[in-house]
Amino acid sequence: MIRRNTRKVKVRNLYIGGDAPISIQSMCDIPTANWQACLEQIKQLSAAGCDVVRLTVNTEEAAAGFKELRRHTDMPLVADIHFDYRLALAAIDAGADKIRINPGNIGGSDRVKAVADACKERGLPIRIGVNGGSLEKDILAKYGRVCPEALRDSALYHASLLEQFGFYDIVLSVKSSDVFTNIEANKLIAAACDYPLHIGVTEAGAIPDGLIKNSAGIGALLSQGIGDTMRISLTDSPVEEVKAAVNLLKALGIRKGINIVSCPTCGRTKIDLKRHYAALKSAIDEIDTDREITVALMGCIVNGPGEAREADVGVAGGDGEAMLFRKGEIIRKIPEYEIVPTLVAEIKELLH
Ligand code: SF4
Repeated sequence: MIRRNTRKVKVRNLYIGGDAPISIQSMCDIPTANWQACLEQIKQLSAAGCDVVRLTVNTEEAAAGFKELRRHTDMPLVADIHFDYRLALAAIDAGADKIRINPGNIGGSDRVKAVADACKERGLPIRIGVNGGSLEKDILAKYGRVCPEALRDSALYHASLLEQFGFYDIVLSVKSSDVFTNIEANKLIAAACDYPLHIGVTEAGAIPDGLIKNSAGIGALLSQGIGDTMRISLTDSPVEEVKAAVNLLKALGIRKGINIVSCPTCGRTKIDLKRHYAALKSAIDEIDTDREITVALMGCIVNGPGEAREADVGVAGGDGEAMLFRKGEIIRKIPEYEIVPTLVAEIKELLH
């Protein structure tokens, strides 16, 4: 896959855009003033594979909490600002690594300049986030509805407000809860500028619907080389967002890791494959590796051996037992209750 050529911006110790790996973001769902609880959540997000965490800075207390967090974690932190440019300045002072703000919503070019100058002085990028609910009246009037072109125009309008002050460390996001609008809007913005893009399907709902919408939208864009950083937005814990994002990147071959191939089961299945899958998946989630390993969990000896042979390690289930394969070779028969522990041990052996 050839990635779109984009500018690179720095967010603390990571880059977004250019040749930087696609980073995973999420957002704390706790008031930022409660910084101790946010810190715990950030630790969980980090353990799940999160690269960047956003927090709302909607009050002075939140800005104070943000400052404490900054002192207690190295995680790149983004301050989410709506309307109040003074809170943006407070977040910058508190040590934010990136500001998420829409310059057209903060009331005048002197305020935009103040934020742009403060960010420029510290080398901080600004993310502009446009969605269907935030479109300017004149843009809505021009197109008569929320559409990909309107989202593109709005994002470029906000970017132009920063560009007039010589500020170009910009990340753009154009999001819609409608998957098709989302994909088309991102394609338009990708064609119109070289700013890195933060992608995701907004307000996508809970699991599983939200996962499906995000996978369709983000997957379509990433497969076309569009997208530099991503958030899977779910009506669920942010940790679930990160886990899903990691799995999506692994499914697309963008991040390396352990990939499970398992059959859908049918009338031939002789082992409790769904239970084994759940146990194997949770064991694998605990293994941190950037090596690419394929594990096959197949339900029968008719179609199972093919996939099990192709995998690095795999089993094909029989009646209360399974045939173990390693690198295409039959190793031995194992009883059903040993399937998961044996596969986990084999994976660990491969990682040594
Ligand atoms: S691998 Fe075997 S058990 Fe699994 S779906 Fe195919 S035929 Fe059925």
